[in-house]
Amino acid sequence: MKSIHLKEIETLPGKRIEKSDTFNFRCHRGLSCFNQCCRNLNLFLYPYDLLRLKNSLKVSSEAFLDRYVDVVMKPDSFFPELLLKMAENNEKTCPFLTEKGCSVYPDRPDTCRTFPVEHGLLFTDAGEKPEQVHFFRPPDFCMGRHEPDSMDVTAWAVNQNAVVYNDMTARWAAVKALFLTDPWGNDGFTGAKGKMAFMAAYNMEKFQEFVFKSTFLNRYDIKPALLKKIKQNQTELLKFGFTWISFFIWGIKSADISSR
Ligand code: SF4
Ligand code: SF4
Repeated sequence: MKSIHLKEIETLPGKRIEKSDTFNFRCHRGLSCFNQCCRNLNLFLYPYDLLRLKNSLKVSSEAFLDRYVDVVMKPDSFFPELLLKMAENNEKTCPFLTEKGCSVYPDRPDTCRTFPVEHGLLFTDAGEKPEQVHFFRPPDFCMGRHEPDSMDVTAWAVNQNAVVYNDMTARWAAVKALFLTDPWGNDGFTGAKGKMAFMAAYNMEKFQEFVFKSTFLNRYDIKPALLKKIKQNQTELLKFGFTWISFFIWGIKSADISSR
């Protein structure tokens, strides 16, 4: 989910749609374009994508980051992004693409399941809360748009099991939006604070260890009910990680965490 400024919205490709607008789309094996969209991509992964994929592949976050991802800093942000490395073949296929299709289909990233719809956060100069905006953006070769099935943004998310993904991506986008300005000072992102924030977003095992096996719980007050949830559920721990980044880096208060 990208951050969009009001002045650039008219220049973006694709058609802007409202949540209730309907569009025609269906993707299936019978189409001549099947799997054509899974190659030569700039596919950015969000923290929840990483969590689902590393669990699907039964590897640690660290192993996943080493093998599948380039860590990149976009010019308009002060927090690094994860770019999925395409395979080193002529077509630069997605590393998860097989002859039978997507090998991680139940855990495919949010961008893949939401495609050809894209979500963005629209910012204005007035500094109001950003508005979620949607685009319908199938490339020319995508035949799914000629299918008769019609749906709106919400129905499409349900159809693709993307509701939790969309929610996690929106939560992350709100945190990422904070990093449009530089919080790191002279240390830069590679300083201690940057490394801790990176861990909370992208390294579940290390963050788990940090929360439960360091002095973290002596330093922060977390409500018992929340503590129980984050002990038992990695998705809840990741959400908590977003809250902690906002608090630790930006001092944004929340009912979920305070300093002791
Ligand atoms: S190009 Fe479009 S219709 Fe074809 S496989 Fe990809 S998403 Fe489906
Ligand atoms: S993760 Fe799956 S759906 Fe997404 S690009 Fe790769 S093969 Fe295609």
